[in-house]
Amino acid sequence: MHKTLYIVSTPIGNLEDITLRALRVLKEADLIACEDTRQTRKLLDHYGIAKPVTSYHDHNEAARAAELIERLERGESIALVSDAGTPLISDPGYRLVAAAVLAGITVVPIPGPSAVMGALAAAGLATDSFRFCGFLPPKTSQRQKVFEELKHETCTLVFYEAPHRILETLEDLAAVMPERPVVIARELTKLHEEFLRGTAVELRAALSARQSVKGEITLLIGKAEHAELDDTPIEDAIQALESSGVSRMDAIKQVAKARGMSKRNVYKLTV
Ligand code: SAM
Repeated sequence: MHKTLYIVSTPIGNLEDITLRALRVLKEADLIACEDTRQTRKLLDHYGIAKPVTSYHDHNEAARAAELIERLERGESIALVSDAGTPLISDPGYRLVAAAVLAGITVVPIPGPSAVMGALAAAGLATDSFRFCGFLPPKTSQRQKVFEELKHETCTLVFYEAPHRILETLEDLAAVMPERPVVIARELTKLHEEFLRGTAVELRAALSARQSVKGEITLLIGKAEHAELDDTPIEDAIQALESSGVSRMDAIKQVAKARGMSKRNVYKLTV
């Protein structure tokens, strides 16, 4: 335990979702650094863990990171937790971990819940590759810009979103990616856990029919179909690459990869 920074995942709702190792590390650490000490106390009390805690959040991160590094260098072990889920995943901790790595301190992850993983695991969308994009910006124009930039990604997209913004967000999504399968994972691991599946327009209609939308939301967007990605004729796409200095063979390879086709089929279409 000596001179180690542990990054400990904690439940995102259901208190049973904590690993045996996480509980042991929280019991054995010299200090627990938490986003909100009151929130973490509830978890610690539930498991009968009495340990000194200190706050570590967005507003004191820089100063507190320096103090914590000093304590680690003196030989203490510190467990970092956030209010829920995995620290650093749209939560504080990055500065502390970066500083610890720079100072040669051992950093050990204690993996466990994270809304992004729970949502992906049960959404029913492709999971071979995905892109986690954190929180969406609050304004429509910025959100649509983000969606425009991401619409050609060939992987599942995952966002965190606030319940009071979800209707507007679905409207923006419908404007940019109307055909995509969308999943809303709401209140994961909690009493009112639900998955809503459909297009952005369908999900907006379903949620608008409710009196209000509450709870924590993870939003997932299915990946672009290959046909949606690029409608440039194959030969034109290859020639464009060739004119930028890429060899014909490499151009065929790149176009095949981008369109999810075999090199052989792309080649056939060009002769
Ligand atoms: N570090 C956390 C993690 O690993 O999941 C995420 C922290 S971020 C500040 C909080 C956001 O995560 C929420 O606004 C929501 O978008 C998502 N989230 C957290 N808990 C969730 C849950 N139980 N169900 C669905 N989404 C959740």
